[in-house]
Amino acid sequence: MAVKKSNTIKLKFDSARNLAPAPESKSAAKINERYDLFINGKFEKPSGKKYFATINPANEEKLADVAEANNADVNKAVTAARTAYEKVWKKTAPKERAKYIYRIARMIQERAREFAVIETLDGGKPIRESRDFDVPTAANHFFYYAGWADKLEYAFPNRNAQPLGVAGQIIPWNFPLLMAAWKIAPALATGNTVVLKPAETTPLTALKLAEIIREADLPPGVVNIITGAGETGAAIVNHPDINKIAFTGSTNVGKIIQRAIAGTNKKATLELGGKAANIIFDDAPLDQAVEGVINGIFFNQGHVCCAGSRLYVQESVYKTVVQKLKDRMETLIVGDPMDKNTDIGAINSKEQLETINKYLKIGQQEGAEMYQSACSVPRKGFYCRPTIFTNVAQSNRIAQEEIFGPVLTIQSFRTDDEVIEKANNTPFGLSAGVWTDKGSKIFNLTTKLRAGVIWANTYNKFDPVSPFGGYKESGYGREGGLHGLQAYINLV
Ligand code: NAP
Ligand code: MG
Repeated sequence: MAVKKSNTIKLKFDSARNLAPAPESKSAAKINERYDLFINGKFEKPSGKKYFATINPANEEKLADVAEANNADVNKAVTAARTAYEKVWKKTAPKERAKYIYRIARMIQERAREFAVIETLDGGKPIRESRDFDVPTAANHFFYYAGWADKLEYAFPNRNAQPLGVAGQIIPWNFPLLMAAWKIAPALATGNTVVLKPAETTPLTALKLAEIIREADLPPGVVNIITGAGETGAAIVNHPDINKIAFTGSTNVGKIIQRAIAGTNKKATLELGGKAANIIFDDAPLDQAVEGVINGIFFNQGHVCCAGSRLYVQESVYKTVVQKLKDRMETLIVGDPMDKNTDIGAINSKEQLETINKYLKIGQQEGAEMYQSACSVPRKGFYCRPTIFTNVAQSNRIAQEEIFGPVLTIQSFRTDDEVIEKANNTPFGLSAGVWTDKGSKIFNLTTKLRAGVIWANTYNKFDPVSPFGGYKESGYGREGGLHGLQAYINLV
């Protein structure tokens, strides 16, 4: 598996890996021993009296016990949201709604460090990413949608934008605070009330957000945050008094939800899985492209729905690109997510690590060639070395199925038509990347690739202003931007 490396590169590897530790302090955040359900503006004990543990995947230590909401709790939360909607929120002047949303944004900024530390401890992502990406982008979403709250008549000229009512929102574990912001901010701006469930393994930043929402004096019941596993999510989906489901998660659960709401009046947006193609043409600036590929697949341990997990490289530069990628992979620091030097933190859970390891085996059985960087990883906790597969066939499971880890498949291509065909040849259609010097090639590809978001000469760039969402089995509906407002209104 090892590759031959030049001395100069070896020196670079050593210096990157021998950086002195720069740990962020755990004490920057206060984590309670136990968290209850945030319903109607108060923290309430779960009626079934059940709690589950959330752990730190970097060292497998327990962080806190978190309440498990059963059907009765879900009903309580939906009733609180309905009452708040009818009696308060839909009657609240849009400019007043905006003030609350701005306040939440400001409070996230004020507590940014605390949020970043909790996000990293609970989910395993590098502190640098929580600090520089997740938390500021979450605050930006609240700022952005606060701005729209009293301008809906300009967003939808000559139409009257009416809220839908109570939104049930279910989010995954890869960007816990950010996904909560994506869901809550546009719902509040358009006058809806909310029942939100974070993922079982990463509930803590959503609960911290609940504390902020209480301190921001948002009227009780406008936002309810309840914790639990899949059953709690299903109880939200099936509750008859929910008007809209906003779900981000796997395609499998998305399908279950779609079946469950068929024949009801519930509206839905489903943001599901992906298997994005990242395409490098021979005229691309290769070093920049390699950086983009590294960021595309190893950001957040590859736990990214739009991760560039399939790399297509034009044949004439294939060998060069693969070697550059391997060299760059050797400089990545894998380990303690709380260390500010860390590039790749912990895999979010034992189950997810098992899934990734299963795919590593499948890839090898399918005949692909696996290469992992030579770094050491901590013994305790859940870690996976950055991995690439070459000699991959289009039909291989590792090239077709979402792995959701730091695992990249690499294939070559010769012509534009060939790579378009290969890139589109998956059940998914969430995102893609194109690296080339030629604007005409970018236009050609972006019109023919069936993906909701396509980056050119960059990757994984997010902004509250731009809509995000998929085609095919990556789901439907858009979040972010003006499109994100549409998901929460009826236009009359
Ligand atoms: P998941 O298993 O589908 O879970 C997502 C959420 O749904 C969690 O809160 C989960 O609860 C809950 N849930 C599970 N079963 C449910 C059911 N039957 N009814 C209602 N809710 C249910 O997905 P995940 O493993 O957490 O997240 C990874 C997936 O999310 C990947 O496929 C990724 O591509 C996708 N994702 C998509 C986007 C996008 O914008 N398109 C963004 C991020 C992630 P528990 O976790 O507590 O079981
Ligand atoms: Mg956790």
